[in-house]
Amino acid sequence: MLSDIYTEEHRIFRASFRKFVAEEVTPHVEQWERQGAVPRELWLKMGEQGYLCPWVPEQYGGLGLGFEYSLIINEELIRGDGFGVGVPLHSDVAAPYLASYGSERAKNTWLPGCVGGQVVTAVGFTEPGAGSDLAAIRATAVRDGDEYVINGQKTFITNGYFADLVVLAVKTDPSQGYNGISLILVDKDAPGFQRGVRLRKMGGHMQDTAELYFGDCRVPAWHLLGQEGQGFRYMMQKLQQERLEVCIKCQVMAEECLKEGLEYAKARQVFGQPVGLHQANAFRLAEMATDVELGRTFLDSIILDHLAGRDVVQRVSMAKYWLGEMVNRVAYQALQLHGGYGYMEEYRICRLYRDVRALSIFAGTSEIMKLIVSRNLGLRP
Ligand SMILES: Cc1cc2nc3c(=O)[nH]c(=O)nc-3n(C[C@H](O)[C@H](O)[C@H](O)COP(=O)(O)OP(=O)(O)OC[C@H]3O[C@@H](n4cnc5c(N)ncnc54)[C@H](O)[C@@H]3O)c2cc1C
Repeated sequence: MLSDIYTEEHRIFRASFRKFVAEEVTPHVEQWERQGAVPRELWLKMGEQGYLCPWVPEQYGGLGLGFEYSLIINEELIRGDGFGVGVPLHSDVAAPYLASYGSERAKNTWLPGCVGGQVVTAVGFTEPGAGSDLAAIRATAVRDGDEYVINGQKTFITNGYFADLVVLAVKTDPSQGYNGISLILVDKDAPGFQRGVRLRKMGGHMQDTAELYFGDCRVPAWHLLGQEGQGFRYMMQKLQQERLEVCIKCQVMAEECLKEGLEYAKARQVFGQPVGLHQANAFRLAEMATDVELGRTFLDSIILDHLAGRDVVQRVSMAKYWLGEMVNRVAYQALQLHGGYGYMEEYRICRLYRDVRALSIFAGTSEIMKLIVSRNLGLRP
């Protein structure tokens, strides 16, 4: 069981991070949602306490801890309503590209800042004309002496507006489809790099999601991650952890929705008895609880395999689609149990319902997950 792997150190870490979230995140959520951004001070405070990229090796300023610590941070942030804090994307999705494929120079330049909160990272893959089909991206990078010259546009980029460093997918050989994709680091001061407006979204209001523009943007050649043409392979290697990170969000948010629905159904009286005592609602809650229990069991088994270094691509794709849809089902039912109050901002379920909608879309839609699963069943070449 996943709980068996947690030691006393894990428990102490969780307790102190939970306290940190209760004091530094939860009370500010409404204000940050109105502002459409999380202040940099939060990143710096998290960095000071070792809550950013805890896995980074000590030689680059990190604590050298295992993925369990990232898992604890992700879970506790979500429980404390920090869905829009782009830390898991920074710590467990973007920065790992730098650590795995960056040159020594790149790692020495940025990893300490990733740990300390001075360097916020983003992943720039999606374009207006290419989301699910990454082979269709059109941004290019052309080598010119000791530099790359980048042209193109990205959209829907989480942390995009305030990021200091972007892991950017470009074509270095547009004739080659997937094999022409490379990953390159673009820092915020690179000439020719501009950000568009912060995008207005259905949920995740405190998350800065932006468009990025590159017009003859120049970066030094050592910003290339790994080798030219290997970008798609690197993405495939890292997507397992990115999708797992989203699965964790799905599960914890489903648990929170169930909690909200259950509490309300016990407290609110209709026709002389609690909402939850009417059989239709009792059955509704039984179904929600079963969904949540199945999700937890499935997710924990995948996390255990991921921690053991096993290939979980097939199961994480199954989980990303199933959990992404399960959390939407549970959120819908939890809101329904609230009646009109569920539609009111002062009730937590209202925000949860909005926020969960993106979970079956980003990091690969449910349909793309099913495509991967069906391919692995031998149904497609
Ligand atoms: C809140 C948010 C944050 C995001 N953050 C980032 C980020 O940080 N970095 C980043 O690079 N991107 C980010 N994205 C983009 C996200 O990854 C894409 O939106 C997603 O991959 C889908 O791409 P698309 O929006 O272009 O949809 P499309 O690819 O145009 O898909 C449209 C519809 O067609 C379906 N579809 C596509 N292909 C097939 C097929 N072969 N068979 C059947 N159905 C198919 C899709 O499932 C979907 O339902 C974010 C998106 C959101 C909403």
